Amino acid sequence: MQPTKISPATLSKLAKLGIHHRADLLLHLPLRYEDETHLAPIATVQAGETVQVQGTITHNEIAFRPRRTLVCRLEDTGGELYLRFLNFYPSQQKQLAVGKQIRAIGEVRMGYYGLEMVHPKCRAVDGDTPLQQSLAPVYPTTAGLSQPILRKLIVNALETLPLSDTLPDALLKKLKLACFADSIQLLHSPSPDISANSLEDRSHAAWRRIKFDELLAQQLSMRVHHRERGKRIAPKLAAHAKLTARLIKDLPFALTKAQQRTFAEISRDLAQPHPMQRLLLGDVGSGKTIVAALAALQAIENGYQVALMAPTEILAEQHYLKLRDWLEPLAITPVWLSGSLKKKDKQFAAGRIASGETLLAIGTHALFQEQISFHKLGLAIVDEQHKFGVQQRLALRNKGKLDVGRASARHVGLKPDLQKMEPHQLMMSATPIPRTLAMSYYADLDVSVIDELPPGRTPVITKLVSDERRDEVIARVRAACMEGQQAYWVCPLIDESETLQLQTALETFQLLTQTFPELRVGLVHGKLDNIEKARVMAAFKANELQLLVATTVIEVGVDVPNASLMVIDHAERMGLAQLHQLRGRVGRGAAQSLCVLLYQQPLSELARARLKIIFESNDGFAIAQQDLQLRGPGELLGARQSGVAMLRFADISADEDLLNHARQVADELLHDFPEAARAHLQRWMANKRDYLHV
Ligand code: ADP
Ligand code: MG
Repeated sequence: MQPTKISPATLSKLAKLGIHHRADLLLHLPLRYEDETHLAPIATVQAGETVQVQGTITHNEIAFRPRRTLVCRLEDTGGELYLRFLNFYPSQQKQLAVGKQIRAIGEVRMGYYGLEMVHPKCRAVDGDTPLQQSLAPVYPTTAGLSQPILRKLIVNALETLPLSDTLPDALLKKLKLACFADSIQLLHSPSPDISANSLEDRSHAAWRRIKFDELLAQQLSMRVHHRERGKRIAPKLAAHAKLTARLIKDLPFALTKAQQRTFAEISRDLAQPHPMQRLLLGDVGSGKTIVAALAALQAIENGYQVALMAPTEILAEQHYLKLRDWLEPLAITPVWLSGSLKKKDKQFAAGRIASGETLLAIGTHALFQEQISFHKLGLAIVDEQHKFGVQQRLALRNKGKLDVGRASARHVGLKPDLQKMEPHQLMMSATPIPRTLAMSYYADLDVSVIDELPPGRTPVITKLVSDERRDEVIARVRAACMEGQQAYWVCPLIDESETLQLQTALETFQLLTQTFPELRVGLVHGKLDNIEKARVMAAFKANELQLLVATTVIEVGVDVPNASLMVIDHAERMGLAQLHQLRGRVGRGAAQSLCVLLYQQPLSELARARLKIIFESNDGFAIAQQDLQLRGPGELLGARQSGVAMLRFADISADEDLLNHARQVADELLHDFPEAARAHLQRWMANKRDYLHV
């Protein structure tokens, strides 16, 4: 058999699925399977099952309530069920005309008339249309790439590519793992005797082998990158403890133990001639900013530049103001750079960055655009790094490399081949992911965790209030503001639609302004221009506004200690991490803070579970752990958003045993079978190489 030629149009669709090489097709495994190998008698099917049934259409009508729906009744000798279609073509109605013989496959549920399937897959049959011989794989795909085409390409890859095992026999025996070729063949076309369940829940030996391979690849790549990082070079930024010590002395508070420990870890890394790549994890309000400021000072003490980047203008500006206050007494004046600056101001900032006159640049991702060139970048700090896309993080890394490379080589008189100097990197995140998860996800990052809050904080009280009691909540907001407190009112997320979200924010703002004529109410949302946004935030911070109506733009980082009441409207629509972040905007001062989660009935199971967790816990790490169980790691880390799910098959929480094996085997393999390790990485990581660094 010959490898099939693939058209450019198909190639670009495959690329969307992360398939860049023919070999990637092998590892493009089914999401699920459709069992078309037998027919279920309708009388035996139950709600919740996905089944294939066959019968005669005995009724066909278009209903108009609650909306236009095609409803058909399908009968076999022992029972009947309904087929419903919300969107349908006239041709479909004809296909399902009374008297036709139909084979339908879909999930059964209890509907208004009895058991029904919504949007089943249907086809016309006659008495002796044969049944499928094996489970039919259903692959993840993208618009314009049909299952049959994808399937054909995969079958071709299975038949024309080598499926040799990357792991030594002895190892497979020891771990009782199935061989690769058999596993992969089986998952793509399981024989009829295999239990659909063990495939669906991925407990089948073939799945275990694949999951193990994936975890092993991840472990190997972490180790390889760690090793490689040891070969890369970065400026040595020794801890002179001059400026840092002065800042610590001048602070109005003492550092917590956790802040001291994490800064010590960072400080030690910076002093190495290899690039630091460290993630500073800490719950909202744990005080990451001061740790970042200290890291910046250590670089500055050594005459190197620092770039501090934040994902939103509001947050970046807040950092700018805070660091300016802290550092100006030490004769360090940061420069501010954002996309919204006037051209002239941008040029001024860019000039100071390029000449090295400024040692600290703070801003949004505008800092890492092409026109900006650093004189001598020693450290790049990225706050709320999970908010940045993978591409942005890659750009930052590559750019940083270029800038520091050229300049440092000039500066320290390095030979041209040593010009590949890189800046150190410090990433910060308040998405409190469990530590083990963080380590296995961010391939080669080291992780420091701030695991305590500064003293003197009173935990936020959380209340769950049904929408029916909205009036009471409004009264509460008024009372709090009249007493001199400040409040946030966060507007709901609407199906990720910015326009609708904006509209609700405007309406809420109008409503609350009318309701509270005696209060000054502000509005902040993502579509506001930056100057206006900054003005509103400054007014709220200065207590000129008592109530701030906001969209989720205030989710990250915003720090206004006097705000002690937060209302989150339609809290049932938000994710756990988001709720926790939002709640973290209050409880920053001495006053007792309250977070009201307004929700609307009826609650979905998932929403109910989330609200229960957020109500019961204030600890970001505990919440993250539960979130992990609720949603699985992919979504938790926003991997979906960034388009790179680091683990496709294994599940860190469910496959812990495999992960532990993978950890051990990775060391063994690298040491005893480096060739096998290389082949394994090649198979699994060939198209992800770049992403491993971010
Ligand atoms: P986050 O980790 O969420 O970024 P911030 O760095 O914004 O937290 O800190 C939250 C607040 O706590 C800030 O007002 C900061 O000045 C204050 N803070 C930080 N460290 C301490 C400390 N050790 N003691 C008291 N307050 C602190
Ligand atoms: Mg912060």
